Amino acid sequence: MRGAWQLGRVAGIVVQVHWTFALLIGWVVMIHLRDGGSVADALRGVALTLAVFLCVVLHEFGHALTARRFGIGTRDITLLPIGGVARLDRMPRDPRQELLVAGAGPAVNVVLALALGAVLVLTGRYASMMDAAHVGAGFLGQLLLINVVLVVFNLLPAFPMDGGRVLRALLALRWPYVRATRWAATAGQVIAVALGFSGVMLPSPILVLIALFVFSGARAEARMVESSAAAVLRDPGE
Ligand SMILES: [Zn+2]
Repeated sequence: MRGAWQLGRVAGIVVQVHWTFALLIGWVVMIHLRDGGSVADALRGVALTLAVFLCVVLHEFGHALTARRFGIGTRDITLLPIGGVARLDRMPRDPRQELLVAGAGPAVNVVLALALGAVLVLTGRYASMMDAAHVGAGFLGQLLLINVVLVVFNLLPAFPMDGGRVLRALLALRWPYVRATRWAATAGQVIAVALGFSGVMLPSPILVLIALFVFSGARAEARMVESSAAAVLRDPGE
């Protein structure tokens, strides 16, 4: 990907970060300082952002390492301000394999959330976190909640989210692949319209942007399958 800096290589897969990620870090620092926070608050915000993106990288490795078990390579994993992208050489056409590859990413966040929950329970901080969830829980509590949001958001049954692929794989267990894709793409577009409508009513410009992203993603996936091009796993919002 152009404009991406290589961070390193893990398990033979290049991990890189897009330069626009620096804008996100700058924005996090800015909102903390603007709201009267100290430098320590801003650093904590940056640390939380980096921790979230570490969870995102682990999510992408969930996809990449599961795909490797089926003989599919990953060109690279790139971090963008909107989330992570694992560029798999292709998606498996076998619906059972696709189900595992697509589901592995969110499964990583489930495991992380459970592990964070276990740490909070064992250190006696879980109850206070649930009490104070709306006023800002501790660092680990926030990370736990963000992992839960990542699971729910990524499992929305809409391309290009993982949930869209899970839905297509489930449909393809019973119906032909291209037809399953078309149905899953239609489901994604219905969800995109619903998201877009909520975004306008709230109003929430970010929700409208996500809706446009999902809508075009669903169309692109339907076209891509019909032309049998290489698959790209995208994970927005992570
Ligand atoms: Zn994913």
